[in-house]
Amino acid sequence: MTTPSSPDFAPGRPVVFRNATVLTMDDGHHVLRGGDVLISGERIVSVGHALEAPSDAVEIDATGGIVMPGMIDTHRHMWQTAMRGYGADWTLSQYFVWYYLQWGKTFRPQDVYAGNLLSAVEAIDAGVTTTVDWSHGLQTTEHADAAVDALEEVPGRFVLAYGNIQQGPWEWSAAPEFRDFVSRRFTSGNDMLRLQMAFDITGGEEFPEQAAFEVARELGLPVTTHAGVWGVTTDDGIRKMHEGGFMTPSTIYVHASSLSADSYNRIAATGGSASLSTESEQSAGQGYPPTWKLREHGIPVSLSMDTSVWWSGDLFSAMRATLSADRVREHLEAHGKGETVTNHKLRAEQVVSWATRGGADALGLGSVTGSLEPGKKADVVLIKNDDSPVMVPLLHPYGHVVFQAQRADVHTVVVNGRVVKYGHRLLGTNLAKARQAAEQTVEYLQGALGPEAWTEGMHPEIPETRVVNNPYTYTYTDGQDGQPGS
Ligand SMILES: [Zn+2]
Repeated sequence: MTTPSSPDFAPGRPVVFRNATVLTMDDGHHVLRGGDVLISGERIVSVGHALEAPSDAVEIDATGGIVMPGMIDTHRHMWQTAMRGYGADWTLSQYFVWYYLQWGKTFRPQDVYAGNLLSAVEAIDAGVTTTVDWSHGLQTTEHADAAVDALEEVPGRFVLAYGNIQQGPWEWSAAPEFRDFVSRRFTSGNDMLRLQMAFDITGGEEFPEQAAFEVARELGLPVTTHAGVWGVTTDDGIRKMHEGGFMTPSTIYVHASSLSADSYNRIAATGGSASLSTESEQSAGQGYPPTWKLREHGIPVSLSMDTSVWWSGDLFSAMRATLSADRVREHLEAHGKGETVTNHKLRAEQVVSWATRGGADALGLGSVTGSLEPGKKADVVLIKNDDSPVMVPLLHPYGHVVFQAQRADVHTVVVNGRVVKYGHRLLGTNLAKARQAAEQTVEYLQGALGPEAWTEGMHPEIPETRVVNNPYTYTYTDGQDGQPGS
């Protein structure tokens, strides 16, 4: 056994985490105190106490830390990371105008590459070992090749959800180039890079999207769709999908917020799942994050960050926002009825489960990742930060992950058995290249938009606030004393 100061993580060399609080996220959600996790090759070998490890194993001291499964994001528009933070003050309307109508067409293949590369590096840095790239900026298959080139450069697990907001899905999915791209870039059985089709049901009464669903069915590809987005995608789309037989257990309904009970019944009956982007739903306006409705209907949940044009791509934020949104709704509704909530329905443990095995199940990767169990692929995160006062005491491990930990506390990340981050530093990942690519894209877009459109896009108008009359604000005029003024 060796405990080197700068370990040599040679490919295939066993790794053992020692003395951690281990959140297995197995069926029984077993938690081990002072537990070990042994990895060899691509897989988890064993989880337990005082494990015997091979003599060449690298030992990682996880004392004071939490070892958990790699987190899974089931909906992120990675290409938009090249515009990180630009839309911080947007609503959904401004997002649509900017990307769908005005500037989305401007993005070249290298800009999609830049966003994806930066986003992919960001994901693994934050312990998000599997990310769905909801890639709806693929105007051409050159853009699609650029998207996949970036994903293949970063040692994470990815799912390309192919989409194109510049065409109807019935158009791009019928193009021979699309099928050619699929056969060139994807091989069945590769669990590091999978494929979905990504499109929304907005084509009207004729339901032209049917053709795209038929392509997905023929190619055996899951469909992911923004559903229940206020004023955009409706119950009508769900009904058409259901009547066409296109709702399946592999279908992911992103947001699923502004839907009727009838739609939730159809989703539940066909075995699909919802991907909640709580920070997005709260800020952009798709509808209230629907955790309580999904709970009532028994619909499985995974979490997502949607887009870094507003939010950062770490699931600590997603877990925290989701737990808070569920609770604040309960309190607000109770107070409206003059009541008090004494027991929360949603627990920290549940949102950690959504961020890990919830995502794996949604993606059909439940036998591959999402929990720490012998035989599964080793996607593992160690949360440990000896320089942070926030790591002690560690009393409620699920609560600690959700409400205390942050991305800077991600010490070690393993993807498919490979250590991609150790001691808070990325390994084998070229952040400088991603930074440079993003800078070039920003420079190009600033030129394409011009200074005025660039500035206006970032600073939407603020609606006027009607200031209420406050009777406790006194104005004093000559001859009057202490009388409320106007
Ligand atoms: Zn989205």
